[in-house]
Parts: sequence; C-alpha cells; structure tokens
Amino acid sequence: MTDLVVPAPGLPTVPTGTGGRFPVRRVYCVGRNYAAHAREMGHDPDREPPFFFGKPADALVTDGADTPYPPVTARLEHEVELVVALGGGGRDVPVADALGLVWGYAVGIDLTRRDLQAEAKRLGRPWDLAKGFDHSAPVGTITPAAGVEPTSGAIVLDVDGELRQSGDLADQIWSVAETIAALSRSVGLAPGDLLFTGTPDGVGPVARGSVLRGAIDGVGVVETRIV
Ligand code: MN
Repeated sequence: MTDLVVPAPGLPTVPTGTGGRFPVRRVYCVGRNYAAHAREMGHDPDREPPFFFGKPADALVTDGADTPYPPVTARLEHEVELVVALGGGGRDVPVADALGLVWGYAVGIDLTRRDLQAEAKRLGRPWDLAKGFDHSAPVGTITPAAGVEPTSGAIVLDVDGELRQSGDLADQIWSVAETIAALSRSVGLAPGDLLFTGTPDGVGPVARGSVLRGAIDGVGVVETRIV
C-alpha cells in the first residue's frame, strides 16, 4: 500500500434510524425546486429544468452539533430541505427506477451566505463559497426509505420557536425520482451520495445564538444552534 504523505481525511457519516451510520461520498443540492421560493428569489418557476450545485461532504453538521457562524458574510440564511440518501447508484437512471436507489430520507438545512451568492450571481461567478463553506449542511438522522412517502408531507423550519418556513413536499416542482434521474444524466451516482432537494419559501437570516429546528412529516427533524 502506498504511504500517505499527509494524514487521511476522516469519512463523514450521518446517524440513521437503524443505529448504524451512513457514510457520505458526495453532497448535491437542487436549486429552486419549489415555485414559491423561485418567485421569492426573483425567478419564474415554470418548467425551468432542475439545476444542481454541491457542498463538500465534510460540510455536514450531524448529531445535533452546534453550527459556527461562518466568516465573510453578514447574511447567513436557512433553507430547510428533504435530504435523499442513496444506497445505490448508476448513470442515466430512468425515473421509474430512481426511488429504488434510495436508502433513506432526512431533514437538512442548506445554509447559504446569501450576500456572497447575490454577488456571485451579479458577477456571473460560481456559487461555491456561498453554498459550500465549512459547517454549511446541518442534517438530522436518516430514516430508512421503507414506509416513507416522499411525494407529500409538511416541511417546516422554526427559528427560536418561531415558524419561518412552511411548505409541503407536494409543492416540489421536480419529484425526488425526477431529480435523481436528472442528476444521473450529468454525473454517476453512487452509494453514499446525499441529495438536498430544494427549499420552500420563507428563507431568511439567522444570527449567532439562534436555534434552528427543521421537520418533515414522516421523515424526522434536524436541530442546530448557530454559535
Ligand atoms: Mn437550497
């Protein structure tokens, strides 16, 4: 075996409802997958095809840990999302086969440095550092897919006990199966991939000390304190 010249990075893992932990390979995210959120961001949601961006796997915040407020932003915003955890993979996956790849579902928060994202949009630059910074992806326990119906159910987020986001998975423009199929046409998917599937409207700023709690009916919760 080749000697490693620096210490090997740790493998990010997420707790599951079975007691085991889910090893994470990649984290993908979908943009503007709820019409009302697309409109609040200034876009027409009608039949815009799904588009994707990523976060580093080690950006995950798990097990209810605190989330440090990130540097170089004055506008950190919450986006509560259904997270799909893949137990299978492939390329050019048909929509009819896509849900067969899913190991489970969780609730996640796509934390966003909105001021950096706005500047990137204005200048035609990548979103990477607006979306993919350290600790940018709090995620809750992954519930095994059996018995979970990903096509409907309330999705909400509270900040300090006050309701900020309230939607329903039924309002997703692209279903979980359609999203997996679309992503698999661009990249090969594999066990260990997570997919954040977009946020309903009501995104907004958070401050140090805020406690964020996201929940999806039948899936679970995610909770973190911004410190
Ligand atoms: Mn998002």
